[in-house]
Amino acid sequence: MIHLKNVTKRYPTGHEALSRINLKLDKGAMAFLTGHSGAGKSTLLKLIALIERPTRGRLIVNDQDLAGMAPRQVPYFRRQIGIIFQDHHLLHDRSVFDNVALPLVIQGYRQHEIARRARAALDRVGLLHKEGAAPITLSSGEQQRVGIARAVVHKPAILLADEPTGNLDPELSREIMELFIRFNQVGTTVMIASHDLELISSLGKPMVRLHEGHLQRERAPESA
Ligand code: ADP
Ligand code: ADP
Repeated sequence: MIHLKNVTKRYPTGHEALSRINLKLDKGAMAFLTGHSGAGKSTLLKLIALIERPTRGRLIVNDQDLAGMAPRQVPYFRRQIGIIFQDHHLLHDRSVFDNVALPLVIQGYRQHEIARRARAALDRVGLLHKEGAAPITLSSGEQQRVGIARAVVHKPAILLADEPTGNLDPELSREIMELFIRFNQVGTTVMIASHDLELISSLGKPMVRLHEGHLQRERAPESA
């Protein structure tokens, strides 16, 4: 499902953010990407989502070789992926419903289908009752859940999250991670970058550790 073969990413500055990474995540699997700030976690997620291109090596995502993908194919490829950021990037001049519906509007879905899917996604994150609210009136945990609803509204095969609990307290962080586990349980492949070792090692999922652009080790969490 996600396969990196000898992937190196060097930014135009000359900095090598990832060095010869070999990594495989099966369809339907879930894994955490750990490592200190600057280790290359965001870069790795960006390569998988085709936000950045590798300098060397191959990426196979959802049976597609990203090297051979023409720019015009990229938007279609991205529809197979949902991305969640630490600071959720919600539009504050639109309602919760409109934020979640936006990807479907852009993709040209019909009105009634947009409404049905957006409400189903909000229901899945427990926020259907807030559909008319302005994002600014929600708590930070709720705002992050709106970001998650928006990321899954088009039912992506792969869900990527970059420090999704970075701004949340421990209890809310755990709730967010459990939400990801539920999406994984219905078949979505999930990869989450997080440096919250205490939380993620308690969740019983594999962890992949990056250190200064190198894959350090792959191990099952102690508690599993
Ligand atoms: P992490 O997500 O683990 O904090 P990143 O992937 O964001 O790590 O960054 C890895 C390294 O690459 C860092 O040293 C960072 O400064 C560098 N880097 C990230 N993005 C860019 C960029 N667009 N241009 C140059 N260097 C970058
Ligand atoms: P459909 O009838 O089009 O298959 P569902 O009613 O099953 O849609 O699901 C509606 C919404 O529930 C989706 O838009 C999505 O937000 C969420 N959803 C359902 N299944 C998944 C999944 N496997 N991964 C992520 N989100 C999902």
